[in-house]
Amino acid sequence: MPWKLSTEFTFDSAHIIEGYDGPCGRLHGHTYRVRMELESERLRPSAHVRRGIMVADFKSLKWAKKDVDQGGLDHMFLNEHPELGDDTTAEVVAAYLHRETMRRIHADLEESDDGADLKLRVLLWETPESCCEYWE
Ligand SMILES: [Zn+2]
Repeated sequence: MPWKLSTEFTFDSAHIIEGYDGPCGRLHGHTYRVRMELESERLRPSAHVRRGIMVADFKSLKWAKKDVDQGGLDHMFLNEHPELGDDTTAEVVAAYLHRETMRRIHADLEESDDGADLKLRVLLWETPESCCEYWE
């Protein structure tokens, strides 16, 4: 694909892996690092510019960086998230970040645009050494 947007950000959150036999089963926190990579075959208008000159607004890839009170995941107890519940592994959080980001991007597309050429890859670091990658 000719275009790829990449962006990275962090958010701080607490969680417990319910039923985990070890330290991850106790309340603890991470500075999660996220890398979003969005590929596209063509350029489009966005919510902020009506000419077809963007893959997507970078803002649409960084929503999770916002405070939980503004719809993001920063300073959230992830187990209280309705779509995550007690299964807050890096794998489950990465898949959720993919699903929710694609939902937001598709919500911004024009009616005639099915967005079929948009491919998103999410990389989620739970620690500086350990990363989960999710794409479809
Ligand atoms: Zn953890």
